[in-house]
Amino acid sequence: MTDMNKVKERIEELRKLINYHNYRYYVLDSPEISDAEYDGLMRELKRLEEEHPELITPDSPTQRVGAAPVEAFGVVEHPRPLLSLGNAFDLEELRAWHKRISGMLGTQDFDFVAELKIDGLAVALTYEDGLFVRGATRGDGLRGEDITQNLRTIKSIPLSVLKEAPPRFEVRGEVYLSKAGFKKLNEERAREGQSLFANPRNAAAGSVRQLDPRITAQRPLDIFIYMLGYAEGKPVPDTHWETLEYLKALGFKVNPASARLESLADVEDYYQTWLHRREELPYETDGVVVKVNPISLHERLGSVGHEPRWAIAYKFPAIQATTKLVRIEVNVGRTGSLNPFAILEPVQVGGVTIKQAALHNEDDIRRKDIREGDVVVVQRAGEVIPEVVGPVVSRRTGQERVFTMPRHCPVCGAEVMRPQGEVMTYCTNAACPAQIQRRFEHFVSRGGMDIRGLGERWVNALLTNGLVKDVADIYYLTKEQILGLERMAEKSASNLLASIEASKERPLPRVLFALGITHIGEEMAELLAQHFGSIDRLAQATQEELTSIPTVGPKIAESVVAFFRQEANRQLIDKLRRAGVRLEAEATVPTALPLAGQEFVITGTLAAFPRSQAERRIKELGGAVGSSVTKKTTYLVVGADPGSKLDKARSLGTKLLSEAEFLDLLDKAQSQGKAA
Ligand code: NAD
Repeated sequence: MTDMNKVKERIEELRKLINYHNYRYYVLDSPEISDAEYDGLMRELKRLEEEHPELITPDSPTQRVGAAPVEAFGVVEHPRPLLSLGNAFDLEELRAWHKRISGMLGTQDFDFVAELKIDGLAVALTYEDGLFVRGATRGDGLRGEDITQNLRTIKSIPLSVLKEAPPRFEVRGEVYLSKAGFKKLNEERAREGQSLFANPRNAAAGSVRQLDPRITAQRPLDIFIYMLGYAEGKPVPDTHWETLEYLKALGFKVNPASARLESLADVEDYYQTWLHRREELPYETDGVVVKVNPISLHERLGSVGHEPRWAIAYKFPAIQATTKLVRIEVNVGRTGSLNPFAILEPVQVGGVTIKQAALHNEDDIRRKDIREGDVVVVQRAGEVIPEVVGPVVSRRTGQERVFTMPRHCPVCGAEVMRPQGEVMTYCTNAACPAQIQRRFEHFVSRGGMDIRGLGERWVNALLTNGLVKDVADIYYLTKEQILGLERMAEKSASNLLASIEASKERPLPRVLFALGITHIGEEMAELLAQHFGSIDRLAQATQEELTSIPTVGPKIAESVVAFFRQEANRQLIDKLRRAGVRLEAEATVPTALPLAGQEFVITGTLAAFPRSQAERRIKELGGAVGSSVTKKTTYLVVGADPGSKLDKARSLGTKLLSEAEFLDLLDKAQSQGKAA
């Protein structure tokens, strides 16, 4: 075969594959592969078509968006096509886009609007004489589905506009489902034995594209309007930013996070801010959409294939990827629960290589029909443990193995049991070494006594050498004993002893949490510590006394009473007390936190830690974090590649802090906080 034929064949193959996945994604709302994998196919096709423009056909998936509309809904012709967006996956690509368009325009003298890219479904809403008359999906960009009745059920879509508007106009926006709404919907579907939606976007699309609007009405859908499609009969603003303001005034819901920005550095700043803050949002966003602000330039720039040149999606690192699930293993938790997890062929997700992912429990594995040897979609969101979303059924070879829970504890060999009505299976042996090890790990963990330097490895060494039997023994370790551990250096031993000593000062809620009492998480520990003031008072509390606290239910009360009833646990507490561990709450005289009353704004990239962490530390020390520089701002922290916030701060005379100065200030505040 000639090279040209090979290229043709590959192009054909890619188009077929992409069309298949488009159909699954846009028509069935049930994708099989991760977006990252799909994007890879699309990129390859685009590259081949760029190298061989003569092979581009009008029906190539690079020329059309989505998939053809489903006739059953009734088809709407879009007066102006609804396009997709080109992507930039890093700053380099964003700069290349900027260079390309400013080259075409012959100037760099234009500003931008940055918006969050909402992960939902694009719709076009038509208004005539101020009334909502038609709503359509994007479909293939030229023809969409008529979903007017379904959209009428979304409360944030105005049925009539608030003030005089052009006689006929179309707005475009993204219908979405909140993270909580998505979770709830999937839980309901799981209970009813229905297949689960892969992500909030497909769930939103599946909810809107219902032939029965009553089903749509039950789903907690919402919308953000992000542009004017067209307007007839009355002039409209000539910048995108003013258009958003205008749409707001007409009564449309516009995302409040949108911002007008002067430079690409500001865009980067905006991106970094939201990359770290996106976890806080109640809905999913998968990037930032950067748009050229003057609308006259949109017309001059036009589009290429199915992507406008005047806007680009600057994507956040993907949170999903496709890989092979090699086998399923089971570990034993501190309560004896048998936790299945997947061993994966290593894969990059959001810039991190993952080799394992959580599988929750036996029922979950069965419901999702995850088998050993399957190709699976895995997901990693924020600081949450990666999880397996589901299998790619079309990639099965027949060699996959169905998983069954072991009948015996994989660590100690004891029998396992699954209590009625529970989803977890437990090892029945309280002396199971795995359970003990996990209890120690929990005790010393960050949220507990936070004993730095005492990780899984050293806990294991202490246990196997018989140096500790219960967690209180940690406080009676001598330097000689620690130094006796294999490969323990003098310096590490001293550091370890120092962190053990420091941990005695942890506040009461942390001690309560560290003890690992069933059902007592960090928040409950905080509440109990506040209410009772000391561990002795809590130990004496009766079931009634506990349940009289509003958020304490019978299960929690029972677990607390049962814990303190056990002689071994009471002895453990005594032993902790003798070692000098603090078992009383601090006096509750509120002392002002060291950074109280100070507002920090950050610009540019910090080297020492991600922005989210910097913000958390400021807040922990009582400070506030602002998103823009105002007269109220106390300090602007200036990282690498700062944006225009720096100019603003200079013009207002705001105090500037370099990263080093900022870290110094945090350290000082921290020690001040301790001394107080
Ligand atoms: P897209 O989602 O990458 O971007 C375009 C869309 O972004 C617009 O149509 C609009 O609906 C939306 N959007 C959200 N907020 C916006 C805002 N503020 N301003 C403007 N637009 C905004 O493009 P697409 O064509 O809808 O879909 C492609 C995406 O879908 C890719 O990420 C691809 O990976 C995924 N996909 C996956 C599969 C699969 O099988 N996994 C199949 C098809 C598509």
